[in-house]
Amino acid sequence: MSSAAFSKLQQSNTPLPLFSDYHTHPQGHRVQRYTQALLQPWADSARRLGLTDIAFTDHDRYHPGIDFDEIDRLRQKNPDLRIRAGIEVDNDPIHSASGRNWIEKHWDKLDFVLGSIHFLDRADQMFDSVPDGGAQFEGKNVDAVYTDYFRRVREIAATGLVDCLAHLDLIKIHGHRPDEEIGSLVNETLDFIRARNLAIELSTAGWRKPVNELYPGDRIIELAIEKGIPFTTASDAHSYAQLGDKFPILAQKMANLGLRQVCVFEKHSRSQLPL
Ligand SMILES: [Zn+2]
Ligand SMILES: [Zn+2]
Repeated sequence: MSSAAFSKLQQSNTPLPLFSDYHTHPQGHRVQRYTQALLQPWADSARRLGLTDIAFTDHDRYHPGIDFDEIDRLRQKNPDLRIRAGIEVDNDPIHSASGRNWIEKHWDKLDFVLGSIHFLDRADQMFDSVPDGGAQFEGKNVDAVYTDYFRRVREIAATGLVDCLAHLDLIKIHGHRPDEEIGSLVNETLDFIRARNLAIELSTAGWRKPVNELYPGDRIIELAIEKGIPFTTASDAHSYAQLGDKFPILAQKMANLGLRQVCVFEKHSRSQLPL
């Protein structure tokens, strides 16, 4: 391609293919020991989709299933892929203390840690369960719920145990919208994320939920771009068939926003790569 044509492509909103998925759950929602039978279909799926860099990020409460030797074996069998060992830690009042201990113990073997808020005041139910979690919003002031949620996001960002925040505005999942402008609710949190030098993810999972919107929403992405916060791309797949879900739509959205870089992690060290 001539350099003139190349710079035209750079300026246009032509989508560029995405190559990384940094939010996946090989175990689904229970403990399933990592084996080649469990993991190889994810590698096959990545290759089929043209993804070259994927991170396994099972929930911290299922850490007994994670086996770093099996991930190494998978890497050896699939040298064309970069396969990252990761985990998604949240604020589960019952399990996250043990999850955090496990992360500290295995920090050097992990490439990537996602931080998430799945719990508000109820210890027995994730607020993002669909549809039941929606009941946690009944009779509540939505602005106050948002404020509380983003306070919790800052708390998990402050643990020093996360590389990237997952689904940053998950609180919108059931479609509850604040009266206050989202920028004012989230600004302090974005500044905190920037100051801690953390990334956030662009997650297509929101398009599968009642809210039917990317996580995070456009205004938050614009603010994050202004502040220089880097992004990963993510599906939050709970099955290998969901890997890279809706990535062509995400690629178009990123092109429209002028986002042409994505970040990847190896042993918690971040690189920004061009799409
Ligand atoms: Zn999550
Ligand atoms: Zn997840």
